Amino acid sequence: MSGQTTDVLVIGGGATGAGVAWDAALRGFDVVLVDRADLAEGTSGRFHGLLHSGGRYVVKDPVAADECVAENAILRRVIPDCIEDTGGLFVVTPEDDPAYGDQFLEGCRRAALPAEEIPVSEALRMEPRLNPGIRRAFTVPDASIDAWKTVWSLARGAAAHGARILTYHRVLDLHREGDAVTGARVRNELSGEEFDIEAGFTLNASGAWAAQIVRMAGIEGIGVIPGKGIMIAMNHRLVNTVINRCTMPADGDILVPIRTVSVIGTTDIRAADPDEIPVTQDEVDQMLDDGERLVPGFREARALRVWAGVRPLWQDEKSGPAAADTRDVSRTHAVVDHIQRDGVERLLTMSGGKLTTLRLMAQDIVDAMCRQMGDERRCRTTEESPPGNEDGELYSIGSRLRRREKTLRDEQLVCECELIGRTRLEETIRRRGTTNLDDIRRSLRLGMGPCQGGFCIYRATGILHGVGRLSGAEASASLRHFLQERWKGMWPILYGDQLREARLDDWVFQGLLDLEHLPAGADGAPAQAEPDVQSEEPARA
Ligand SMILES: Cc1cc2nc3c(=O)[nH]c(=O)nc-3n(C[C@H](O)[C@H](O)[C@H](O)COP(=O)(O)OP(=O)(O)OC[C@H]3O[C@@H](n4cnc5c(N)ncnc54)[C@H](O)[C@@H]3O)c2cc1C
Repeated sequence: MSGQTTDVLVIGGGATGAGVAWDAALRGFDVVLVDRADLAEGTSGRFHGLLHSGGRYVVKDPVAADECVAENAILRRVIPDCIEDTGGLFVVTPEDDPAYGDQFLEGCRRAALPAEEIPVSEALRMEPRLNPGIRRAFTVPDASIDAWKTVWSLARGAAAHGARILTYHRVLDLHREGDAVTGARVRNELSGEEFDIEAGFTLNASGAWAAQIVRMAGIEGIGVIPGKGIMIAMNHRLVNTVINRCTMPADGDILVPIRTVSVIGTTDIRAADPDEIPVTQDEVDQMLDDGERLVPGFREARALRVWAGVRPLWQDEKSGPAAADTRDVSRTHAVVDHIQRDGVERLLTMSGGKLTTLRLMAQDIVDAMCRQMGDERRCRTTEESPPGNEDGELYSIGSRLRRREKTLRDEQLVCECELIGRTRLEETIRRRGTTNLDDIRRSLRLGMGPCQGGFCIYRATGILHGVGRLSGAEASASLRHFLQERWKGMWPILYGDQLREARLDDWVFQGLLDLEHLPAGADGAPAQAEPDVQSEEPARA
């Protein structure tokens, strides 16, 4: 691929970058989006899964609360297929101060957040596993949101309006002519090829990596603090409603039911490097203890997987004294104007924010770009829906089963946990143009349910080989790569039933398949073709 030219270069293919590409493409700009990896492989694919009602912030961070209230309602309308309307409960546990409930209700009233106190007995009827010692309970419109569906849907929408979505393209350098940024040098991480993208404007949506990107344009010291948090997925839906502790935001105080599992999180620790976010045993123990406070017996459930993500928290030296604790940094977002701050033109950075506010963040940065260009174009993302959301229906947990029942007798089921049939898998392999099982996992949630790939991934590998894209050696390499990635999230929680499950998987992969001795590909890494975003499968699953 030789050089490319575009109106707008978006750096980062997480929720923010995909939202920015969708917004800018809808306004008629020519857009190129680049990400060094697959879409949503950064923080957006490693978050907690909560579409915030705003309740978490009503007392401590009212601006963030107001934004969540408004965006929660808009996202339900424009990307309903990505959202499950679980509802949410804020509960006062025996260790929390019941008086905080009054502050909470007052904050909800100020933010126009529809919250209601219900009798504890009713909360326990809704969620029988909840701690029977809870003292107060409030309902709020929390929901769970699927990050991969969201990001792919926005990217496909942008592509349908002409955007070029280049996954596995790393920005190596930003080009500067005088005071202006004029584009970037990128490398195709799959082929090794390097080329230039000439851009009228560059929008930096690289989240926790934002400071690294602007450094390439000679800009030092922007205040993006990487705030690490860990989460643990439990092997089934211990609750069907999002459960929040009704207290000042703290660690391990939210349990989110998402698809077939429920996720407890999270910690908040300043990280030195967004690529170095190891999970410690102390953090795991703390999360499991925190889970016990909400759902007694939590530790007896099978913990499936633990992972970490890194928040792009915004705290510039010019916006006030640094907070000692990352929890004290506001969860609102900021468009960093590099003309004002650094005297650099044609470059803007997005920082802070939440996945819940991705649409507003995109609108704010594209509005700022339009103002600087002197080319005001109206934002349309509150009224247009990206592909997969046309029927306006929120996702429901039974929808995969309903779809699956239509072909129950005719089609091989590849993944029992997530109900993925062979046809869908083959279509996705072809449409995404990938043979990386991890990319397929992110598209279909293959291997993300209770067996964590133990029973489906060798079948999927056989199919990958069968559809003619991989040699036997490459297929084995792809399988090994997938299992190694899964293993990283499993070893810190190897106890009880999960240890038994891991032993079973070990027998399957070592005992039956003798995985270690299967022939390997040349470099042992999964092979991959250029992805075809335009024809990526519809989001509705
Ligand atoms: C533990 C945790 C839990 C959270 N839970 C929630 C929640 O429940 N609800 C909620 O609303 N929000 C939540 N958040 C916040 C939310 O996840 C983030 O604010 C959001 O995902 C950030 O999206 P982003 O697109 O800005 O960043 P990212 O998703 O990190 O995207 C940045 C992208 O830039 C790419 N990139 C980096 N360097 C380069 C380069 N050189 N070249 C090309 N590309 C590059 C990366 O690969 C990455 O894909 C949570 C965050 C954390 C850490």
